[in-house]
Amino acid sequence: MEFNQKIAVISGGNRGIGKKIVQRLHEKKAIIYFCYLNHTEAIQQIIDKADKTGIYPIQCDVTKSDEVKKMIQMIQNKHDKIDFLINNAGINKDKALAFMSNDDWYSVINTNLNGCFNFSRFVITEMMKQKSGKIINITSTSGITGSVSQCNYASSKGGIISFTKSLAKEVAAYGITVNAVAPGYIKTDMTEKLSEKHKLRILESIPLKKYGNTDDVASLVLFLLSDNADYITGEVIRVDGGLAI
Ligand code: NDP
Repeated sequence: MEFNQKIAVISGGNRGIGKKIVQRLHEKKAIIYFCYLNHTEAIQQIIDKADKTGIYPIQCDVTKSDEVKKMIQMIQNKHDKIDFLINNAGINKDKALAFMSNDDWYSVINTNLNGCFNFSRFVITEMMKQKSGKIINITSTSGITGSVSQCNYASSKGGIISFTKSLAKEVAAYGITVNAVAPGYIKTDMTEKLSEKHKLRILESIPLKKYGNTDDVASLVLFLLSDNADYITGEVIRVDGGLAI
């Protein structure tokens, strides 16, 4: 599987799952544009080498439609095509609903669901013109099963699943596929902040009795982006060690 000169756009490519997808696509020779929110020294180093590596970080808040539009226009002007979009950026602010603030609710919906909308709607017009393209949305098993203290997060991820299926139907005639990947518990900054007690409880409920890693998710994403997955669309595939069986 090679992605030579394919143009890939990823939201949240500097940490966790997104970072691993960037690395794996880079190994397959894709040209990658990823957005991030908070600038760091590590990102500056990637920017400094971008023309050599073909990995271009762009500071862009997925919740801000005008920033996303600018990023996509810049890529279109440079390449005249976009082959892949991976909507990955996400946050969680877990709290029982009784204690959930407006900010806990709106920031999670804005980042996870509206961020997916913002990128997809600007990329989809380009893909429709090309009559090709693949979109992968990173959802979560919480969006399938629901989850205690995650009304905000699970709603955003459930919304992404419905969004995926609707868009898949809408653009199938243009040769574009849209699929969702639903990780369970993957070791990243997002899960690191959980208490040890909570982590152990999750581990006990995973049939394979181990946490997932970012490669587990990236491997599935790369498969769905490959020609081998040309006949798969509107699908939601779990990478969760059986958590949501
Ligand atoms: P991390 O917390 O490790 O990384 C989150 C990424 O999203 C960062 O790159 C962050 O950028 C970016 N991001 C967050 N908000 C914005 C924003 N407003 N604009 C641009 N970028 C933003 O998370 P994971 O790698 O664990 O999660 C990746 C995806 O996978 C998320 O959608 C998450 O919900 C989903 N997922 C993760 C699971 C897990 O167990 N880890 C399980 C199920 C789903 P910055 O560093 O600049 O803040």
